[in-house]
Amino acid sequence: MAEIQLRNVSKRWGSFVGVQNFDLTIADQEFLVLLGPSGCGKTTTMRMIAGLEDVTDGEIIVDGTVVNDLEPKDRDISMVFQSYGLYPNMNVYDNIRFPLKVRKVDPATHNERVMRAAEMVELTEFLHRKPAELSGGQRQRVALARAIVREPNVFLMDEPLSNLDAKLRVSTRAQIKNLSHTLKVTTIYVTHDQIEAMTLADRVVIMEKGVVQQVGTPVDIYDKPANTFVASFIGSPAMNLIDGELSGGVFRADNIEVSGLKGPDGKITLGYRAEDARVVPEAAQINAPAYTMELLGDSTMVTVRAGGALVSVKADKDYRAEIGDAVCIEIPSEICHLFDPSTGKRLE
Ligand code: ATP
Repeated sequence: MAEIQLRNVSKRWGSFVGVQNFDLTIADQEFLVLLGPSGCGKTTTMRMIAGLEDVTDGEIIVDGTVVNDLEPKDRDISMVFQSYGLYPNMNVYDNIRFPLKVRKVDPATHNERVMRAAEMVELTEFLHRKPAELSGGQRQRVALARAIVREPNVFLMDEPLSNLDAKLRVSTRAQIKNLSHTLKVTTIYVTHDQIEAMTLADRVVIMEKGVVQQVGTPVDIYDKPANTFVASFIGSPAMNLIDGELSGGVFRADNIEVSGLKGPDGKITLGYRAEDARVVPEAAQINAPAYTMELLGDSTMVTVRAGGALVSVKADKDYRAEIGDAVCIEIPSEICHLFDPSTGKRLE
């Protein structure tokens, strides 16, 4: 059992704010992903939870106990880093066993625990090898096994897949998800990769410049981004955002007119996702010349300029147009998202 509460947690170095008023309860066994661009405060948040960084303000509470002043070793937490931190002179078996020795766990149980952890990450046949004799993916699995062997209540993982190639990332990602579920641990996982966040998380926390922008399930965040930062961070491609004017429920900007919208008259930012719109043969909400086309295999991404922005639509995989050809894009009002252009906040 490990419920983690962050109560208005802030981290400052002098006048620089690394993390500001982070306030969230992470449920027992939840898989929480911290997502955001480089420097947004993800690692700092995690390091405060682990006890590797002091908290400037606020409280970190694990299962009802304030842990602000507890040493990292006294917190029931295992960390996995992007640089695996393996001991080069020890073989895989001893690397996995190391945390048990440090914590003076009864030696009679070591072999069974090491073997169980190694089996979970499919390393049984490599136990005699040194880290230098392993591939990047295998080393990453040793780091995972070393975290597992302690049987902690909390896993903290900081970009654990970033050194792996694309294919291995996908398979290791699936393994991490499966392990976290099987071991029933509370997991906090840091990444700047939105696909990783969406596929792994029960809930995602999106941060920018030390401030939490939105907390929600992947579906919540995708369907109802709280602001234009989240809208442009989540989704591949990012949500199309167009600045224009709303008047009597009709949005207008260059090459675009969408009616049937609900919102206040005046300047507004309209958003839509490329996959929610479609190319049609006759005049529609957007009518503009093709700027570029990309063949994606299962679909064709067509980009045009509307309202001064480059916006895209996901078309059929057989759709073809030359650059400059007229493209008509249907954007029904119900797929549109509206944002306040001065604050970036979602209007509802
Ligand atoms: P990345 O994805 O690049 O790892 P991050 O979101 O994990 O980024 P953090 O490492 O948490 O970002 O850093 C947050 C901010 O705090 C950054 O602007 C960083 O430069 C700053 N920072 C981190 N450690 C210190 C420190 N010891 N002293 C001063 N500033 C720091």
